[in-house]
Amino acid sequence: MGGLGYSSPVSQPLSTQDHDRRRGGRTYVYPVVSRRARGVSVGINLNPNQACNWRCVYCQVPGLVFGNAPAIDLGLLERELREQLAEVLAPGWLERHAPEGSRRLNDVALSGDGEPTSSRALPEVLAIIARTLEAQALLQKIRVVLITNGSLMHLEHVQLAIRRLAQLGGEVWFKLDSATDRGLVRVNNYAGGSARQARHLELCARAAPTWIQTCMFAQDGVEPSADEQAAYLAQIEALVRAEVPLRGVHLYTLARPSRQPEAPRLKALDGDWLESFAEKIRVRGMPVSVAPET
Ligand code: SF4
Repeated sequence: MGGLGYSSPVSQPLSTQDHDRRRGGRTYVYPVVSRRARGVSVGINLNPNQACNWRCVYCQVPGLVFGNAPAIDLGLLERELREQLAEVLAPGWLERHAPEGSRRLNDVALSGDGEPTSSRALPEVLAIIARTLEAQALLQKIRVVLITNGSLMHLEHVQLAIRRLAQLGGEVWFKLDSATDRGLVRVNNYAGGSARQARHLELCARAAPTWIQTCMFAQDGVEPSADEQAAYLAQIEALVRAEVPLRGVHLYTLARPSRQPEAPRLKALDGDWLESFAEKIRVRGMPVSVAPET
């Protein structure tokens, strides 16, 4: 889910603009600054092969290919996570690497160069995160976040991982950019359909604290159509009516250039547009946070 979630690994001062997950020198683990969270996030990338089962037109993963996560070297991942957390917490590290206002460890985020739930090892990875946080007295003190497109939510290994995440006090950010079949194809190149995506969202929200993550933008100079907006708001209404226990919506727009061929055709929406759409979501009973940049 490298698209628009957490950004910018590092060996230099962390920057929210820098994107290369390999600059931290590790295979799976990288530190990033999240401007939205005003803190440092330790990211876990289960897709070092840059493979995803979606192809969002705004995806920022360089060299994105279609596919699943590769086999994970769990011993290496555990060692990298332990080292990275110790590094971030070492005296002076935050001062040297993070800008003022972001000098705190905010979370561990499963967000990389592809879809993390496509890794069959995800439940074991959650167990590693739990062990490592516990060993560093960080369990329940920093958040654990899984950023996902939700398309594999029905699979047993994903359900098990979500339950483990909930036990850790973690949360899911579930991608929902469109509530129409056509929109999901146009934006995410996903043909599974909006009904299925809605079912997966409900399944997820009933198993773990869940935020909807929605990216809106203009394509070919055209803002999201009235039909698209109406379908999205109708879905929000249906979720509220069904009392699906969602935390709310993170609504945002393009912050960094897409690495997909559609890049020149995409444009960020302005803050007024986002705020006005956020208000339409709020009046339907769903909390919203608006971030021009995440
Ligand atoms: S879900 Fe979309 S944004 Fe995330 S990695 Fe896959 S293609 Fe990129």
